Amino acid sequence: MAITHNLGFPRIGAKRELKFALERYWKDQSSRDELKAVGAQLRERHWQDQARLDFVPVGDFAFYDQVLDMSFTLGNLPERVRGFHGDALDNAFRVARGRSAQAAEEHGACCSGVAAGEMTKWFDTNYHYIVPEFTATTNFSLDATRLVTQLAEARACGVNAKPVIIGPVTYLWLGKSKDDSDRLALLPKLLPVYGALLDAFAAQGVDWVQIDEPALVTELDAKWRDAFVTAYDSLSARRVKLLLATYFGQLQDNLELACALPIDGLHIDAINARDELVRAAAMLPDTAVLSAGVINGRNIWKTDLNATLEWLTPLAKTLGERLWIAPSCSLLHVPVDLESEQKLDAEIRAWLAFALQKLDELTVLADALNHGRDSVASALASNAQAIENRRTSPRVNNPAVKAAVAKIDAALGQRLNPYITRASKQAARLKLPAFPTTTIGSFPQTAEIRHARSQFKAGALDEAGYQIAMQAEIVRSVREQEALGLDVLVHGEAERNDMVEYFGEQLEGYAFSQFGWVQSYGSRCVKPPILFGDISRPKAMTVEWITYAQSLTDKPMKGMLTGPVTILNWSFVRDDQPRSVSCRQLALAIREEVLDLEKAGVRVIQIDEAALREGLPLRRSQWHAYLQWAVESFRLTANGVQDETQIHTHMCYSEFNDIIASIADMDADVITIETSRSDMELLDAFDNFKYPNEIGPGVYDIHSPNIPSQEHIVQLMRKAAERIPRERLWVNPDCGLKTRQWAEVVPALTNMVAAAKTLRAQQH
Ligand code: GLN
Ligand code: ZN
Repeated sequence: MAITHNLGFPRIGAKRELKFALERYWKDQSSRDELKAVGAQLRERHWQDQARLDFVPVGDFAFYDQVLDMSFTLGNLPERVRGFHGDALDNAFRVARGRSAQAAEEHGACCSGVAAGEMTKWFDTNYHYIVPEFTATTNFSLDATRLVTQLAEARACGVNAKPVIIGPVTYLWLGKSKDDSDRLALLPKLLPVYGALLDAFAAQGVDWVQIDEPALVTELDAKWRDAFVTAYDSLSARRVKLLLATYFGQLQDNLELACALPIDGLHIDAINARDELVRAAAMLPDTAVLSAGVINGRNIWKTDLNATLEWLTPLAKTLGERLWIAPSCSLLHVPVDLESEQKLDAEIRAWLAFALQKLDELTVLADALNHGRDSVASALASNAQAIENRRTSPRVNNPAVKAAVAKIDAALGQRLNPYITRASKQAARLKLPAFPTTTIGSFPQTAEIRHARSQFKAGALDEAGYQIAMQAEIVRSVREQEALGLDVLVHGEAERNDMVEYFGEQLEGYAFSQFGWVQSYGSRCVKPPILFGDISRPKAMTVEWITYAQSLTDKPMKGMLTGPVTILNWSFVRDDQPRSVSCRQLALAIREEVLDLEKAGVRVIQIDEAALREGLPLRRSQWHAYLQWAVESFRLTANGVQDETQIHTHMCYSEFNDIIASIADMDADVITIETSRSDMELLDAFDNFKYPNEIGPGVYDIHSPNIPSQEHIVQLMRKAAERIPRERLWVNPDCGLKTRQWAEVVPALTNMVAAAKTLRAQQH
């Protein structure tokens, strides 16, 4: 009898109910009780949705973030919010957002008081968690209220509840020491609190606890590996059974370690580490449960159930009751319900499974294992049909695209001449001053733009009317930039609601959902487009807008594109071929756009790779392979142009130290990066590596409403000039201006242009 369970469920709600409830509360449009009621309703609904499983997760719900909640459970609040009394929920929001509700936004710095906790990516997903903060003197104390209360709620719903917590080693691993002390030194103080938490569960009659230790899929040194032994030796004496959950990858050299821990069960991500599952079955003691993560919790494709049963059945025979099955990881990373989709093309829809459908798949697998395949013959047959349709569909397979990818050779990604030669030709053509000024692409998304877009979507504005409205915005952007005296202009991206969706919508091989939202952080969600087939570009995507913008000015107008790696990393990507292949297909499609822009006379083309760094694999040993195809894809996209055409790229981060050589390999003529927040400290990467081409270190932090002064910008640029020769420096903001107001942008850019003039006037 295989046992079914789930590691975690998306909490945002099928219609993003949690997002809207949070935002109402933060804007003071609803009470705390109303917000809490929405949370309770969502938890209840989601437990009902999972009720047919043998074990259902409890504790995976969070109003903002599950790591933040764990910090509260462990009594690890940052010093700066300890003084606050009142509701714990408000305190959690203070840590997460730097304020509890809207007040600070309205009153400015005077009441904001506390700094927001740092946020960072949850392993290699696009979910962001609030980083636990530690110092040498951090103490922990248990607050089990949230978990115990939710346990009672779950039981009242009639489900078999399994509390889910983040394990002690991963909790320390996820955090940051604020005083450079060794956070592992806190383990002896932390373990008794975990012990007390397990005791609290035991007192409630809890049988199994899922304890997440995904740090085990990363490269760990001896010290961290030892910590696992210490931790689980100490916790094994408790009266609950521990299911240690790993996910997002292979355990590799941590596999033996995990199997030797005194735990009652181990969960392994069978999507990424199926071989390890079989090895673990042999290594675990014969009393331990092995949980197989057989349904992909990271994508939206139907599982090939018959193929899964092929390899799973023998394991089930060996393990009997000791086999548990589940999705590979928490379903936090997929949308809730495919049933909500009304507009998805029927053929493509038949290939998909969102969270609820993934649980259906899980129960079919369990039935097949427990009662024989005949008991679910029709479900298996229709699954086989869907898998076969997808595999052979002409929508997925485009022989011309496959042939083009097969023909790629290194020369395609090679500029005709080295940067030095190109730079002088570009200088002769563009005639830019020293310290040229530019912006990153978007200008404020005004109420007019949003209104026109929603009218157009609703059918109240026709194509021509929409075009006119967007052109009016372009005119406005160009006039503003001319008045400001910027050197290289942009059209402002008014026609784009999203830098990936905009291109996806115009490419063959992409589909879009209406409700396919996935939590990114707090109330923020993204709706990744679905890359399902071979990618091609039926026609030019941006040329009309850019040539229109260029017709309004004599200054060079930048063509503005999103790069292949970023499009890939921000999409749900097909799982039937390597990501590198899909990326090369995207590269060839965007390359055609680059060449069309060049043909149309566009002299400067920017290809954004905002998400290139995000795609780095969890293990450093795999970085090289990723960077190789990622950089190759960028080169394929960008480097087919003539020497005179200037290629820019933009990246929304600046931790370049470990990937700077790859960035240089992309061979863009100009790169603009985010540096302003850290006072150019982030340019450290450029100390040890002589970046060969031009750089625009961002001097205006667009994430803040603050207006940088002229002096501040001059100072930042002087720091940059200590590392990069001044003739290769550009002056620009650190990202697009989409989220700002014109009233902020105009004074900020006025100061930026003035700063560039000051710099030009100064002697070398
Ligand atoms: N060109 C885009 C913009 O300005 C870049 C956005 C980004 O880097 N995230 O909006
Ligand atoms: Zn950016």
